[in-house]
Amino acid sequence: MTEKKTQDCMVCGQGLKYLTLPIPAVCTYCGKEEEGYFICLSGHYVCEGCHGKDSLEIITQFCLTSKSTNPLEMANTIMNHPKIHMIGPEHHPMIAGVLMAGYRNLTGKVGDDEIREAIKRGATIPAGYCGFYGTDGAAIACGIAISVILKATPLSDTERIMANVMTSRALSAIASYRGARCCKRSTWVALETAVEYIREVLKVKMEYIPAAELKCTHSHRNTHCNQMDCRFYIIG
Ligand SMILES: [Zn+2]
Ligand SMILES: [Zn+2]
Repeated sequence: MTEKKTQDCMVCGQGLKYLTLPIPAVCTYCGKEEEGYFICLSGHYVCEGCHGKDSLEIITQFCLTSKSTNPLEMANTIMNHPKIHMIGPEHHPMIAGVLMAGYRNLTGKVGDDEIREAIKRGATIPAGYCGFYGTDGAAIACGIAISVILKATPLSDTERIMANVMTSRALSAIASYRGARCCKRSTWVALETAVEYIREVLKVKMEYIPAAELKCTHSHRNTHCNQMDCRFYIIG
């Protein structure tokens, strides 16, 4: 089979149809039969397992070995990897992973097991969650990182509240942007919010990229780029 595409249809690179009700679909790669919301114009369908396989390995390896204390910088490095897709649910485990890695590298209070756990939970957030469920997975990923850092469970008091406040702050920031979803934009907005929140409530000062320097280098491969409606878009 030819090399996987990293924008639009993974099989042929054509645009995808986004359905409001799923239809029966068969994964081109593994043959899994399930209901799908994203079908390409030629009828290709790729299940989430096959879509995220390479990405998850790249994200996990990077987050376990990076020495960076700057989650935005780490996310940019991962997103620039030639095998990472323009759009896709792998952004969710990536966000949880880089926050954990930055926190570990600065405090030493979490280890490989916690980083793997956050990535594993992030990877369970389905594709298209922002549009279909009204909650952007990038925001949930930030809540996951706080939950793992604080060892929250459903019975926790303050820790559970803090994880939920994290998600709500990131979600509110993401929801303030117009137009179609963009996984790059949601990633940057969520991570900015998370770095700020962690500074505020945990007093851990991870580094960040100043807003004026955070610019998008991916718009040319985003079929649905919001261009002038996006603060990360480079004009001209
Ligand atoms: Zn296709
Ligand atoms: Zn598959």
